[in-house]
Amino acid sequence: MAEMVDAASQWRVSYSAAMDAIIAKNDAVKRSIQQVISALSALKTAEIGHDTTTGKAPEGAGKAGPTTSSPTRTSTTPSTGTGSTPGTGTSGSTTPTTKTSPHVVETGYRYQNDETCMGYTKYSDGTETHNAGGHDKKFDHWEDNDAKYICTKCKHMWTVKNARGRGGCFAAGTKIMLPTRELKNIEEIQLGEEILAYNIETEVFENKVVDMIYFKRGYNEMADIELSNGEILTMTLGHPLLTTQGWKSLDLNNSEFEHGVSDATLLSVGDILIGYDRPIIVNNINIYSVDKDYIVYCLGVDGYHNFIANDVIVHNAAYA
Ligand SMILES: [Zn+2]
Repeated sequence: MAEMVDAASQWRVSYSAAMDAIIAKNDAVKRSIQQVISALSALKTAEIGHDTTTGKAPEGAGKAGPTTSSPTRTSTTPSTGTGSTPGTGTSGSTTPTTKTSPHVVETGYRYQNDETCMGYTKYSDGTETHNAGGHDKKFDHWEDNDAKYICTKCKHMWTVKNARGRGGCFAAGTKIMLPTRELKNIEEIQLGEEILAYNIETEVFENKVVDMIYFKRGYNEMADIELSNGEILTMTLGHPLLTTQGWKSLDLNNSEFEHGVSDATLLSVGDILIGYDRPIIVNNINIYSVDKDYIVYCLGVDGYHNFIANDVIVHNAAYA
């Protein structure tokens, strides 16, 4: 009996010891679990922090760079070249966190050579894309007798020395004689084309290059000169015509100002003009007003500064 009690109490002792051990183990397990949990959560916050700061961002940008952004960049630059995209460049300094792909910093045009003007787009990563095109050359201003032209895209300036006088021209449809003796309307004459000119010294007709063409508006009056060859020469009043008595016009001030002909005298009915193959008489002169949009066409001729219009020798629009 006593053995049984002993055994029972022994079992009780060992049971409670076992229970204590289990509880202790449980606590240890609990602590371990809690450690794991806190370790996990610590790991999680660390990962999240990693994600938004440095870890994945450059990797993502690196991937986006070569694959997606470069093809779209090259395809979009021609159209965005003239756009207002440079304005977005100013936001560049405030966006380092969202730096996923390079943004446009500046667009513009650069002078390459006389034929080419290169459009460029600069990106925030220092790269550039280009698209070449022609200049958009426009007359800008006069400097004495030199014409200054500017490219509206790259702002390059050209100087055309002694380009011309200051106007004085003919109406569309005026017939200009070519080296072949064919006739061509003045408004269809091309720069660099050869036309027939008159060497006043030798009294011989020669081929000369047209080195200037333009049209002009803003004249208040035009004159119809009725000729004995049946033609009517429609011209600005200051345009000098070659007669047997030298250059003559209907506006002596403009003959000098627009053509540099300072010794012109007044043209009148009955004057004899030097024609291409015969003298031509001025039968009638009719002066009339035109509105400001009326267009006249002007030519400059290298060397002799004259050409043949409706069969008579006329001064060109450049200075003598
Ligand atoms: Zn240009």
